[in-house]
Amino acid sequence: MDNNLKRTIIMEHYQNPKNKGLIEDSSYGFVNMNNESCIDEINLLVKIEDDKIVDIRFDGEACAICTSATSIMIETLIGKTKKEALEILKNYEYMIDEKEYNSDILEQAIVYSDIAHQPNRKKCALLSWWGIKKALKGEYDERKI
Ligand code: ZN
Repeated sequence: MDNNLKRTIIMEHYQNPKNKGLIEDSSYGFVNMNNESCIDEINLLVKIEDDKIVDIRFDGEACAICTSATSIMIETLIGKTKKEALEILKNYEYMIDEKEYNSDILEQAIVYSDIAHQPNRKKCALLSWWGIKKALKGEYDERKI
């Protein structure tokens, strides 16, 4: 994917993030993620039904990379089974860590393929994906907001 296109997709997701704003619904699990090396604090609401991710919502304060990565993660993972989501997550982490990965399943998340060149931004791109990993393991936080 061309670098200009990557930048455009990242900016679009930053300006119009998908599913931003939390709702009152106890069928969602809550996860809070913080990145001490940036301003990022992301709250995720995750709804899993019959082994499938049916919805993810978020809010919080975060930089452009973290906000767009969260929006892209949401768009990529809704509708996936837990198993599919874990496979995508694993390959996303491999990509960020510059290991061999399967680009075919990453969909738009491929826009962060160069983030390894900005080591201090890696955690920005990974934060909400680590949050969803916790949700997939059932490790939810107590909802305080
Ligand atoms: Zn950040």
